[in-house]
This record gives sequence, structure tokens and C-alpha cells, in this order.
Amino acid sequence: VVVSVISIGNELLNGDTLNTNLVYLGQRLADAGIPLQREFCVPDEPAAIRAALHDARAHSEVVITIGGLGPTSDDLTRAVVAADLGLELREDPRVAAAIRAYLARRGVTVPTEAVRLQALVPRSAEVLDNPNGTAPGLWCELPGPALVVMLPGPPSEFCPMVDAAFLPRLLRRQPATQARSRVVRVAGLGESHVEARDVQTLSGLAGIEVAYCARPGCVTVRLSAPQHPEALDAAEERLRTAFADLALPAACQTPAEHVAILLRGRGLTLATAESCTGGLIASVATDIPGSSDWFAGAVVAYANAWKENLLGVRPQTLAEHGAVSVPVVREMLAGLHERFHVAAAIAVSGIAGPAGGTPQKPVGTVVLGISVPGSVELANLSFPGNRRSVRERAAATAFVRLRQALLDHSQEPGP
Ligand code: ATP
Ligand code: MG
Repeated sequence: VVVSVISIGNELLNGDTLNTNLVYLGQRLADAGIPLQREFCVPDEPAAIRAALHDARAHSEVVITIGGLGPTSDDLTRAVVAADLGLELREDPRVAAAIRAYLARRGVTVPTEAVRLQALVPRSAEVLDNPNGTAPGLWCELPGPALVVMLPGPPSEFCPMVDAAFLPRLLRRQPATQARSRVVRVAGLGESHVEARDVQTLSGLAGIEVAYCARPGCVTVRLSAPQHPEALDAAEERLRTAFADLALPAACQTPAEHVAILLRGRGLTLATAESCTGGLIASVATDIPGSSDWFAGAVVAYANAWKENLLGVRPQTLAEHGAVSVPVVREMLAGLHERFHVAAAIAVSGIAGPAGGTPQKPVGTVVLGISVPGSVELANLSFPGNRRSVRERAAATAFVRLRQALLDHSQEPGP
């Protein structure tokens, strides 16, 4: 079946909000083998919503709307879609009770009319519970057959509803149209090198389609085989063998997640000393659930005085070599070990720009220090792009290098 999405909301078109729900849904559907075919993004206007609904239904059996189910006057989806489908709206007492219970738990009161509006359910629609908010999802089976599903916009409500209610139902309604794709993530190798190795590795396997998505530090290789799904096992295995250490375990989405597993497995802890990344590395680390098992803490030492005070970097080293230098980063690493008593450490100092570059140290120069039991590694790196790009690449590279160091020195005793 063909699946379309209609994203509804002025904020998605005027640059206020990034359409992260589309990304989330697209990934989930691709993984489930029912790929999304097209998307419409429209403002909070009845005519625009209706037009998109007609276009989408003309091409697709399954149409999903996102957003505009709330109680405010710009939330029009339920009324416009129900009217267009010819489905009368009725207040569902069970939904009203669930909304009141949710609000009571949160200690919030809202006008009765707001509850009533969100408890309106199109005739014959099924209700998808919303444990994280008020407006439920609405699943409308139509003759044809066709399906229109309305889902709430806030990502904290949308994403759990996709996983808990929408996808399981969709997969029960119909089998996957395409074999599930496989993903192999490769850390620390450029996109074109990954592709060159893929081509060589997969030659002779018929019908395998390969797509790439490059992010700083990690290239995702997506394998699909619409005609020969049985070839996917062999293709994935060949790639994992060819990339060996460079391939992340299937359970890991990022090099940082693999670092977490490696540190936890060996009972090691990590601290970071960050200048140009301003805590970004610590932020990535602490984004991972359970990071308190292995992440000790971070020092954001931006000004030189605080590199001295908090990390024990010597004033002479700073004066002689400058803050962005191998000797300073080496002392930042040493300071972390001394103060945090950690076995693994990351230190970074660089010039993110746009100002501050010199002919010797242009914008994008980053010195990265990594230490693990048995190894201290200092690298003078150069990253392209603007301030944000330099910072993100520095943080991503820190995890790629730390991961590699942990793999290369897996036999060394911990602290
Ligand atoms: P509510 O009850 O909160 O009004 P709703 O279903 O009406 O829910 P919207 O009003 O459309 O949802 O959006 C609520 C919030 O969710 C807004 O902050 C909006 O920016 C965000 N949001 C809506 N759609 C998306 C989307 N596709 N991706 C990311 N965020 C979104
Ligand atoms: Mg709203």
C-alpha cells in the first residue's frame, strides 16, 4: 500500500519548528517495511488541509495526519477531516474521562469546552490512547478500503503513540510491502571509502540496493532487496565481516552508544575537559540512558584561567604554545585523571570560528586528546564548515576515537 503523511501547522512552514515527527515516522515505517511515499505540509487552514487530504487520498490508501488535534482555535484537523470524510463527530465519554484523569494527574485545569472538543470522535473511528497528553489519535477505516489516521503533533505524544498504538495496528492491518531493510553503521570512515568497500564486498550478490546517510563520525549503510529479500542476511554478514571493528554493533545507533557499552563492560569511567565544544561531548554522553554508570563528569574550561584553575594546565604551557595546542590538551587530560580518578578521558581545544583563526591555526583547527588504559593519543585535526559544524564534528570525532582506542586496548587492565 502507498502511505502518505500530511503535516499540519503554520509553525512547520514558517521556520519555527523542524518537522521531526516526519523523520521519526519515516524511519519507523521504513524499518517496518511499509515505506512512506509522500508528504504534504500545510498551514492551519481548512482549505489547505482539505486539498492535501484529497491529493493524498487520490494517491494513497493510507493517509496519516500529524498535528492540529488540540483545543485551540488553530487546531482544525479533527473537524475538517471528519467533515470531509462525511463522518459525524460525537463526544466519547471514555475519552473525556481519560482527558480529565490526565489533567488531574498533572494538577492542571482547563475549560470544559477544551475537554469536550478533544473528546470528539468521528463515527466508527477507533481511539488510540494518548497516555502523554490529552488529544487521542483517531483511526478511521473507510470503504475502499482506505485508512485515515489522525495523530497529535507534540513529539512527546506523537512518537510514543506511533510505537505503542499506530505501528502495531498498521502491521496487523497489512503485511509489509517491502522486505525490511538492514542497516550497518560504520564509524570513522568517509562515505566514499565506505561505498568503495561496499561495492567490492557485495559484488556478485544480485538485487541488493544500497543507500548511504553520512553523519559526522558515522556512515549508515542501508541495505534493501525488494526482489530478493532472502539475500539480505548474506549481504549484511559480508559487510559486517568486511568492516570488522569499524562496524557498530547492530544495537548501537551512534559511536557514543558503543562507547557506553565498552566502558560499562570493562567497568571504566570517563571524564571530559572541553573548551571549544563547551560541554557538547558531555551532553552527548549524558543523553545516553544509564550514563551515570560510566560518565563521571566534565569541566568546561573556556577561558585560559579556568584551564589553569580547574585542570591544572601550567601558565607557561599556555603562554608558550597557545590554548589550541598538543601540550595544553595533554595537560588537560592529565588534569582530568588527577581530579576525577577516571580511566578514560577526552580533552578538546579548538578554534570554532568565525573569528580567532590565524595562518598557523585556521578556523576549524581542533586538538583532541583521548586517553584509555594503555594509551594516550593526541591529534591535531582540521574540520570544515561553520562554528556549529566544527563543534559537532569535534564531539563526534571524540567518540569515534575513544571507541577505537577502547577496542585497540581492550586487554589493558583498568584502574
Ligand atoms: P496540542 O494539544 O498540543 O495542541 P496538537 O495535536 O494540536 O496538540 P499542534 O498544535 O499541531 O498539535 O502542535 C503542538 C506542538 O507540537 C507544537 O509545539 C508544534 O510545534 C509541535 N509539532 C507539531 N507538529 C510537529 C511535527 N510534525 N514535528 C515536530 N513538532 C511538531
Ligand atoms: Mg495545537
